[in-house]
Amino acid sequence: MRQLKEMSLTVSNTPGSKLAAAPAALRLRVGKLCIAVQGTDQKELFSRATSALNDSIFIEFRLDSLAKPAAALPDLKAFLARHREVTAIATCRRKAFGGNFTGSLSSEIEILEKAATLGCHIVDLEVESAEQATRPQLARFRATLRAAGTALLISSHDFSRTRRPDGLIQTAQRIVAFEPEFVKVVSTARSLSDNLSVLRMVEDQSLNSHMVGIAMGEEGLISRVLSPRAGAVFTFASAAEGAETAPGQVSARTLLDVYRLEQLDQATRIYGVAGNPIAHSLSPLMHVTAFRRENLNAVMLPLKARSVDDLLTVIRELPLVGVAVTMPLKQEVLPHLANMDPLTAKIGACNTLRTGADGKLYGFNTDVAGVVRPLERRMKLKGARILVLGAGGAARAAVFGLVEQGAEVYVVNRTHEKAVALARKAKAHVLKQNALAKQHFDAIVNTTPCGMTGIKQQLPINEDELNASLVFDMVYTPIETPLLQLARARGLTVVSGVEMFVQQGARQFEIWTGKPAPENEMLRVVELELRRRAQS
Ligand code: NAP
Repeated sequence: MRQLKEMSLTVSNTPGSKLAAAPAALRLRVGKLCIAVQGTDQKELFSRATSALNDSIFIEFRLDSLAKPAAALPDLKAFLARHREVTAIATCRRKAFGGNFTGSLSSEIEILEKAATLGCHIVDLEVESAEQATRPQLARFRATLRAAGTALLISSHDFSRTRRPDGLIQTAQRIVAFEPEFVKVVSTARSLSDNLSVLRMVEDQSLNSHMVGIAMGEEGLISRVLSPRAGAVFTFASAAEGAETAPGQVSARTLLDVYRLEQLDQATRIYGVAGNPIAHSLSPLMHVTAFRRENLNAVMLPLKARSVDDLLTVIRELPLVGVAVTMPLKQEVLPHLANMDPLTAKIGACNTLRTGADGKLYGFNTDVAGVVRPLERRMKLKGARILVLGAGGAARAAVFGLVEQGAEVYVVNRTHEKAVALARKAKAHVLKQNALAKQHFDAIVNTTPCGMTGIKQQLPINEDELNASLVFDMVYTPIETPLLQLARARGLTVVSGVEMFVQQGARQFEIWTGKPAPENEMLRVVELELRRRAQS
């Protein structure tokens, strides 16, 4: 370690090559993923740092998260002595610039100097602090870092917005003026398109600087995953879910396992799942499992899209190869499609987009297959009597899809008029709730959210109305819903919403890749994740 630090010092002293060459040796130690750790106390900070080592040996110590950052320095020294493989960034960001440190600029600089002397490889100073520091103060700071063989990273954080690329480049240039070894520009994404500005800035500035560029916030996820592909030297992740040091940060495990950070390259095909909310979508995990299984260089990112225009801009300019569309965009995307399959047009909802070689968008509805396939595996649909509970978006896919298969479909809904309208459009029948007890069906399909975790609502059907051989609940959180429990207790065949979710995803995979989907693997990973979430 000492040797590498000395080498980097030697290179950084080479005249005229400060920016391009300085971290060349250090870069041998700098991986793509830096895990930022903070703690309410030292014990937590170092325990998180220790567990972070399972995912990366490049760690940022957010000393400013501690009430007394200076008091942690001896333990930091001991940690680095114990883990010589670790590359460490020390940060002690002041409150005025988005950190927690309440001390003065001089105290911040003093802490960073000590961190450098005790073995940290990089220290992070905010550009505002660099600008506030006096020339002699800065010169002394740089000399101390140089003597310790420590690189300087100067950062800028905008917690309110992302400027256009030229505005971000201006910020980067403010930093470059100090000739640090690393330039870090962080903004806040308010739209998906903000990621494009950050990626453009990274692409532009990384030609001359060792850049880090990220947009914070849920909308900024694209930049966290793709900035290394645009030329950034590394990106940040949290040590674990719930231990984020910045808004929108994802855990190192997620970045590595689900967003495939280490495998991403220029040839990686990028897919998205778009909607709002989207953070808890299981689609990225399900699809990456299929991509991996089929040896495809592809990834799927969650896209928190507040408008169709924003989504379309990112699809066009990133570009995205395909997108799974969820609420509330399933109808809104329709006018932007060059073409769509007949069922999509009939239902008036699209959940799958594919970008053609001509750059145009083609729309499909795989929710229909999600309902039809699990049922046709268990019964003959032609002539079957099927009751659909609900008349919302999911019900439309069920009713149109099952009618198309020749089933005799009955719709019942809390708001009766909606059931009437849907039944009329789809050539189905309508029933009133109070008629259910006297009816018998081959299958009952619940398309209401009743029974979903967090929704305390009565089931849309009573026990004495469960007159069917099979009950299919579209709800899949929990996997075993109250309705399925009831049906199982009565000895009925049950179909879980997980199966529908996987089936609609499997068809998406086939549309996008032309390969048969590894359905069993997809189902296994989704069930496993749902169980994990239920326990956490
Ligand atoms: P939606 O468009 O909002 O429709 C909800 C439907 O449920 C409406 O017909 C509504 O009746 C009815 N409803 C809501 N609360 C009710 C209650 N307390 N009692 C009786 N009826 C009630 O929602 P959606 O997009 O169709 O989604 C519905 C459910 O399906 C969600 O839980 C969703 O997660 C699930 N889903 C699952 C999959 C899958 O892959 N497994 C796919 C899509 C959807 P009103 O008309 O009276 O409001």
